Amino acid sequence: SGESSLYEIHHPWNKLQDIFAQLGSQSTIELPQVAVVGSQSSGKSSVLEALVGRDFLPRGSDICTRRPLVLQLLQTKRSADGTDDEYGEFLHLPGKRFYDFSDIRREIQAETDREAGGNKGVSDKQIRLKIFSPNVLDITLVDLPGITKVPVGDQPSDIEARIRTMIMSYIKVPSCLILAVTPANSDLANSDALQIAGNADPDGLRTIGVITKLDIMDRGTDARNLLLGKVIPLKLGYVGVVNRSQEDIMLNRGIKDALIAEEKFFRSRPVYNGLADRCGVPQLAKKLNQILVQHIKAVLPGLKSRISSALVSVAKEHASYGEITENKAAQGALLLNILSKYSEAFSSMVEGKNEEMSTS
Ligand code: GDP
Ligand code: MG
Repeated sequence: SGESSLYEIHHPWNKLQDIFAQLGSQSTIELPQVAVVGSQSSGKSSVLEALVGRDFLPRGSDICTRRPLVLQLLQTKRSADGTDDEYGEFLHLPGKRFYDFSDIRREIQAETDREAGGNKGVSDKQIRLKIFSPNVLDITLVDLPGITKVPVGDQPSDIEARIRTMIMSYIKVPSCLILAVTPANSDLANSDALQIAGNADPDGLRTIGVITKLDIMDRGTDARNLLLGKVIPLKLGYVGVVNRSQEDIMLNRGIKDALIAEEKFFRSRPVYNGLADRCGVPQLAKKLNQILVQHIKAVLPGLKSRISSALVSVAKEHASYGEITENKAAQGALLLNILSKYSEAFSSMVEGKNEEMSTS
């Protein structure tokens, strides 16, 4: 037992993405992903890591994220004896299971260096990582390099434009949810995150504002008005978070401690009273979840009809050439089959039969 391949574990949503990736048709049929955007060191990787609840992403005060990391979380069944396996697997190392999450971080760093060099270079070539765990939501998250203005190390002189183009290629996809990360100790009006998110999503229908570093704001200031949307309004609103500091990283403080410290922070600051739904990583996870469900609900009928009409046109094309089309037809049927399974899973989820989609 336990010998079956990772990729056999049934999950329509992520399976679909694998199939689209293989067919090279991700640009025509988009499924929801969540991407983090913002300037360098705003706390993007920290936010993603906190959402996942495990320590595995390179973070730090220097440029750490130098390639897009596409992270698929897959929920596995809880084992009866309580010994729950959690592990990661990289697309570039198929079959190799990483049970130690610090090894995952080291591999991300090594693989970043392999492609982008060891001297701050940035590459748009993805690293793809799956994490299997009973403790995650089924979701795909994308960690992106942050916006920088001044080239350092091996970076070309047009580094800012290149990074912006790379970020846009992810967030312009109409189904992509955007976490626009801005540190509370900088001026929201200068936020790279809100600016680039605004370019991709001018109506603000899929942008969530995330304010990090609430713990290191200038004394005498607080983020209350930011979180209330009184500074820059955002349809889906803002969530404020406190992640680990550089010192915490150096002291190897774990993620559980960080979440406890965050809760304590908000509880001990009367200025955040009454804003409980906008404060803390668990609230961000909850909000994300709710929005994702609404979003899938909205795009799903469209996806279905697009696949159907793509099939019809393929069939017509081949009929006119009089060719044998079994292969293509089989592929198409597979897609539809999987999509309708996905649709079933989704319907039962929105009808509340699958409570696992909600965070506790
Ligand atoms: P990224 O470049 O946007 O991915 O940012 P990182 O997640 O790598 O974080 C950059 C630095 O900011 C690291 O040293 C983090 O420890 C620190 N940091 C991130 N979020 C917070 C926060 O909420 N509070 C404090 N004090 N430091 C933070
Ligand atoms: Mg990062």
